[in-house]
Amino acid sequence: MPALRGALRYAETMPRICARPTCDVAATATMTYGYAARTVWVDDLIPEAYPESYDLCSRHADRLTVPQGWVLTDRRTLLRLPFAGMGGDVAV
Ligand SMILES: [Zn+2]
Repeated sequence: MPALRGALRYAETMPRICARPTCDVAATATMTYGYAARTVWVDDLIPEAYPESYDLCSRHADRLTVPQGWVLTDRRTLLRLPFAGMGGDVAV
């Protein structure tokens, strides 16, 4: 099963844990920010970490707060996936 082997190899080579100092839970989201836009973005975990991004577990991503005057934009799709394609009236 090449796909399974590939997935396992990916997991082994990319140990991504939450960036919060006291948290060692697997990261599910990536936070990035822009000073000019005063915006913090939370996305699904991006494939590769890069310097100005922070990986977060779902709990810390959910509890993320931003300084006054900043905007938090949650662009994650994981939470909505269970309801996708079920034929319901899901507001987006
Ligand atoms: Zn965490």
